[in-house]
Amino acid sequence: MTLAAAKTYRADFPGLVTADGADWHYLDSAATAQKPQAVIDAVMRALGVDYATVHRGVYARSAEMTLAYESARRRVAQFIGGKEDEIVFARGATEAINLLAYSYPDNNGSRGRVLLSQLEHHSNIVPWQLAGWQVDVCPLTADGCIDLDAAEAMLTPEHTMVAFAHVSNVLGSVVDGPRAAELAHSVGAKLLLDGCQAVPRVPVDVAALGCDFYAFSSHKLYGPTGIGALWGRADLLDRMAPWQGGGAMIDKVTFAETTYAPAPQRFEAGTPAIVEAIGFAAACDYVDAIGLEAIHAHETRLVAQTRDALRGMNDVTLFGPDDSAGIVSFVMDGVHPHDLGTILDEENVAIRAGHHCAQPLMEHLGVPATARASFGIYSTEDDVAALVRGIERTKRIFG
Ligand code: PMP
Repeated sequence: MTLAAAKTYRADFPGLVTADGADWHYLDSAATAQKPQAVIDAVMRALGVDYATVHRGVYARSAEMTLAYESARRRVAQFIGGKEDEIVFARGATEAINLLAYSYPDNNGSRGRVLLSQLEHHSNIVPWQLAGWQVDVCPLTADGCIDLDAAEAMLTPEHTMVAFAHVSNVLGSVVDGPRAAELAHSVGAKLLLDGCQAVPRVPVDVAALGCDFYAFSSHKLYGPTGIGALWGRADLLDRMAPWQGGGAMIDKVTFAETTYAPAPQRFEAGTPAIVEAIGFAAACDYVDAIGLEAIHAHETRLVAQTRDALRGMNDVTLFGPDDSAGIVSFVMDGVHPHDLGTILDEENVAIRAGHHCAQPLMEHLGVPATARASFGIYSTEDDVAALVRGIERTKRIFG
């Protein structure tokens, strides 16, 4: 995909203009992506003329909605190379990881030992702590990748889970999934990849990665908020105990004893996010029509342009590896990232400033916060130029 083509994708996204009609340089796609009209239309149809509940209705509209909901599950599974009965819909990646932390291997109170890394998002730290797992932390290499040699040295047969970000939400570093899987499996542990930042920007195939679980959110993939998925190998999901109780997850309920539905329904208590699931599938269609190889190549070019421009400024420190996926984090000497973000906002440039829900990583980097620019399908060279202009203006203001 050329940069010129990216400009045409901008027209698909009604959110990319400011209130007074100017171009909005939206560089916060790693927090949440803007939505294409195709997704908005799919959501509006599902909320409007197609709307009904799923699974319980005996009337035609409900039967059709049930088909649409289950075909959304198939579509989302296919997007990451999985099978439909391996996709559990959850509220987002956060809920997906909580589900796993509480349900694997069972919920009888005895937890395992998990190896995380120093760069994890709080969503891949706190659930393990809350559920009572013993947590070990794998260090990073000097350029901000998960150090798999260190992981190899740390892993023991006591570890039952390894849980790593596939792509770091701060540094953009990409973990070597197949090697992480091999290391986890060599001690009998399972591998969860937190794919929140990977699914919108690198091609994902869970079989090729060799992982056992994969968690991701729709809203970072140009779909609606309120839905995400936990993909798990069918034999592992089958062994996992229910997490939340309620309607739709049962086989038979009596006051004496309740039995449960098979996975994935066993993990989907209550009326599901029907409309959101349909929007999620529409987002998969939209992204696949452009192609993740092309999106990745496009974001890689924008990352290179941004890093080159910032590297030329002697009062800017860049974090992460040069080949980071779609995300650039940095700090400016003497300027708090929040001040930079506020000045950039005056120029219609939206970046993220803060700890990015990765406080242990901030501690490791020795900074309280970073500024982060992150790209998407619709990002252009103009966005990079506007960012660089804004940083230069900030330098003059603070200079
Ligand atoms: N993991 C990573 C790497 C993330 O970037 C995020 C979102 N910032 C999450 C997990 C949590 O995702 P959500 O808020 O959509 O549940």
